[in-house]
Amino acid sequence: EKIFLNGELISSHEATISVFDRGFLFGDGIYEVMVQLENGLFYKDAHWERLQRNLDKIGIAYDVTEMEAQLDPLLVSSNLTNKPCLIYMQVTRGVAPRKHAFPKDVPPTVMMYALPYTLPHINSKSSHAILRSDNRWLRCDIKSISLLGNVMANERAMEENADEAVLVRDGFITEGSHTNIFFVKSGKVYTHPANQLILDGITRKIVLKLCEDLDIPMMEKAIGVDEIDDMDEAFLTGTTTQIASIAKLGDHIYHTPDAIGPITKKLQQAFADLKNLEPSK
Ligand code: PLP
Repeated sequence: EKIFLNGELISSHEATISVFDRGFLFGDGIYEVMVQLENGLFYKDAHWERLQRNLDKIGIAYDVTEMEAQLDPLLVSSNLTNKPCLIYMQVTRGVAPRKHAFPKDVPPTVMMYALPYTLPHINSKSSHAILRSDNRWLRCDIKSISLLGNVMANERAMEENADEAVLVRDGFITEGSHTNIFFVKSGKVYTHPANQLILDGITRKIVLKLCEDLDIPMMEKAIGVDEIDDMDEAFLTGTTTQIASIAKLGDHIYHTPDAIGPITKKLQQAFADLKNLEPSK
């Protein structure tokens, strides 16, 4: 397995990072994940743009076009050209003596690798999600590598044999530990507004666009934890999750394992079509 690390393609067992890397010491960095389908990289521009935007937000001076140019060589050397795979990218603020303030004139640590990975054709499996309090900081819009709140919530979901932890802040549902969440009520789709309390998922954006294309009414509005029982359907979205119906959220059962709701199903079908027709954007 090959890793692209600071401009060089090296094998994974030779790829090492200093213990003084600010990613290691402070979690001071940004990451991104995208998938390549057989017919191309899925919404690659949106992923590169988000990586650049997030680096700009935290003041890491790095131009992602450099990384973009390294993707083809990485895929070639990983034997993954035109093959289904997952691409992980990470940029940290670099190596410097441990002081909180940003170091001056330090190059960022830039890392990227690709793994064979095939997305399921359609999300036939529904999810069980637990509810957890959203203990994260107040800049969840930043795709930070500091993921302790997300990791702890997700671990709890695993302990309870669930698939995801859905987070609640001040009585409102924000998002999942690594997914966005949508609800459906009387034919209308709801999801949390893309503010600083959630990560503005690329799949979330795709789903909102699909609603528009399919004339499904949609509103970016936070749903209260006390409204869960009133909703007709709920689903999770994410790059690897795609669109996963929620069968059970907390104590509320939306559907039996195979009886996915009509709007969720329609969006899953449209998403599957999109993957076949329109991928290498
Ligand atoms: N919310 C959080 C907290 C995430 O970590 C992720 C993905 O990693 C998402 C939402 C979904 O984003 P995307 O659809 O861009 O993968």
